Amino acid sequence: MPLPKINSSEEAIKLEDQHGAHNYHPLPAVLSRGEGVHVWDVEGKKYYDFLSAYSAVNQGHCHPKIVGAMHEQASKLALTSRAFHNDVLGAYEKYATEYFGFDKLLPMNTGAEAVETAIKIARKWAYERKGVKETEAEIVVCANNFHGRTTTVISFSNDEDARRNFGPYTPGFTKIPYNDLDALDAALEKNPNVAGFLVEPIQGEAGVFTPADDYMMRAKEICNKHNVLFMADEIQTGIARTGGLLAVCGHCTCEGHCERQETYSKPDILILGKALSGGNYPVSAVLADNEVMDVIQPGQHGSTFGGNPVAAAVAVAALDVVKDEHLIQNARRLGKLFRRLMDDYIRDSNIVSLVRGRGLLNAIVINDSEESSTAWDICMALKENGLLAKPTHGNIIRFAPPLVMNEEQLRDCVDIITSTLKQFEK
Ligand SMILES: *Cc1c(COP(=O)(O)O)cnc(C)c1O
Repeated sequence: MPLPKINSSEEAIKLEDQHGAHNYHPLPAVLSRGEGVHVWDVEGKKYYDFLSAYSAVNQGHCHPKIVGAMHEQASKLALTSRAFHNDVLGAYEKYATEYFGFDKLLPMNTGAEAVETAIKIARKWAYERKGVKETEAEIVVCANNFHGRTTTVISFSNDEDARRNFGPYTPGFTKIPYNDLDALDAALEKNPNVAGFLVEPIQGEAGVFTPADDYMMRAKEICNKHNVLFMADEIQTGIARTGGLLAVCGHCTCEGHCERQETYSKPDILILGKALSGGNYPVSAVLADNEVMDVIQPGQHGSTFGGNPVAAAVAVAALDVVKDEHLIQNARRLGKLFRRLMDDYIRDSNIVSLVRGRGLLNAIVINDSEESSTAWDICMALKENGLLAKPTHGNIIRFAPPLVMNEEQLRDCVDIITSTLKQFEK
């Protein structure tokens, strides 16, 4: 059956409403095309994409190099399952492990699956290497975390919408405040059964909550001291988004992985997703060195689609684009400019209280209650003015454009944002 032609946004929204589960509350923009930093709706209106599918589309929409790699591989061989080898996976694993500086990679599909994988590896490592008694391993996590939507992952969320009535919950998680090194040290000191500390370098969903500059580095030191795995969920922050190859790279100015930089706190377990495919395909991965990854042996973990040839070819192309187009440097430079221009505006603003973030992962906090609809209303007005963004939590709006944006486009976007905000000033 050919898909019926959708003639209006209204029609598309109605179809979703009638036939789809209501598990999202999207902004009413129905997009039908994307290219670079732009997307177009069904009526042909052009927008700047200022969300990038939650930082999946760092390389820009429909990047020809990534789409080309996907086309080519999809028409040659798409899936073998891991029952057999394929001629792309090994080359991808070599490329990606060298790119990020780890011995081994375990391929999965979605971010939540990669987080689950990391938890399983950490638990197994605790029993087989650290000597924790079976079933007693604990993972320390942070308050207000977001690591995905599976039953285990929502078990340690404190977002009531994500959790309520989905129990019973998976045990084995201890929550501490984010950006609190003393709390981390105390939690690891108190419990010798801790396998790992799972943390986002910047809490994206919580509202681009940006910790102290040295938080990751010190957290890693504390984990080392207690023989606990430092597990970085860089699904949203990684792959150039925050102006480093990874957010744990801190303020290093190198193109890629750099162990020499003192601000680099290499995770024991690195979790990637989203931009690993440039948003073209679900590709996620867990990276670790041999002493950790080797706890996983045949039959102990897997996925039918994980490591499929299309995913492997797409990921290599997506990582190439990051390097070839200097997206790390661009995110860093434009991020600074964005925050400076927004700060200039905020100084005399009643409606925005601050801008925060790193690289091109930023957010503004709206000067209104979390329950107010102001942030949503601002996003609706931004949409009218040709820019798409979405509130994260109540009164916070995340701004995360594709990293292929240029300075002229960024200045144009800041003009749209500030002139829209002016409509809301009291
Ligand atoms: C998006 C995200 C996830 C979950 O990824 P999915 O692909 O949606 O399962 C996990 N952790 C962080 C930090 C994320 O931003």
